Amino acid sequence: MKKVFIFLGPPGSGKGTQTSRLADKLSVPHVDTGSLLRKNIQDETELGIIAKGFIDKGQLVPLHVVSAVIKDRIQKDDCKDGYILDGFPRSVEQADELKKIMSEVGTFDLKEDALAIYFDIDNEVLIQRLINRRSCPKCGTIYNLISNPPKIMDYCDICDTKLTIRKDDNEETARLRFETYEKETAPLYDYFKQLGILKELDADKPITEIWENLKEIVFDE
Ligand code: AMP
Repeated sequence: MKKVFIFLGPPGSGKGTQTSRLADKLSVPHVDTGSLLRKNIQDETELGIIAKGFIDKGQLVPLHVVSAVIKDRIQKDDCKDGYILDGFPRSVEQADELKKIMSEVGTFDLKEDALAIYFDIDNEVLIQRLINRRSCPKCGTIYNLISNPPKIMDYCDICDTKLTIRKDDNEETARLRFETYEKETAPLYDYFKQLGILKELDADKPITEIWENLKEIVFDE
């Protein structure tokens, strides 16, 4: 079985939910650049201050920022048996950077040890999903008011905290994030295919069905 999983797909395609499940199942960390960047913003770090302006506009944060965040994270001891990347790489430039960072860190090799899993889904379905997304600021659980609502409206099922809407989950920013995705991230499909490490997943299905398909892909390799 491969050790590093790269979850690839448009914003709101369900990568986060499936990554968390897989991370639990394999007992490896879920490395999510969006969350790492938001944590830096919250902590008002130097990297967070740079990242904020880009995130608020739905644009990609500059390479040196995201690269520093990722390198720091995958060097940590809990990544030595593997990890799941969610939201990185997001451009061909970042994929080249990942290759470089992985060889510098030295634990795994992109071509030999990684599998990229592409979440295939229509953009309009996704824009509706994003607008209806809510998350728990305390435990990180993600809900969708339509497809996966909390038992009590607006409150987390797990820790009863009031759910929040991410600042960039409004329609205008969501559309901008899609444009950014099409331009910058979509070319990674061909990049990983050429490298021979791409697998596709139909992401317009119920969460449990996607999970079953994902396990087949991961454990078949
Ligand atoms: P996400 O939580 O993955 O949807 O990311 C939210 C925002 O964080 C994105 O719209 C970008 O502004 C920024 N971001 C997350 N990951 C990256 C990345 N790999 N490269 C550049 N910007 C990123």
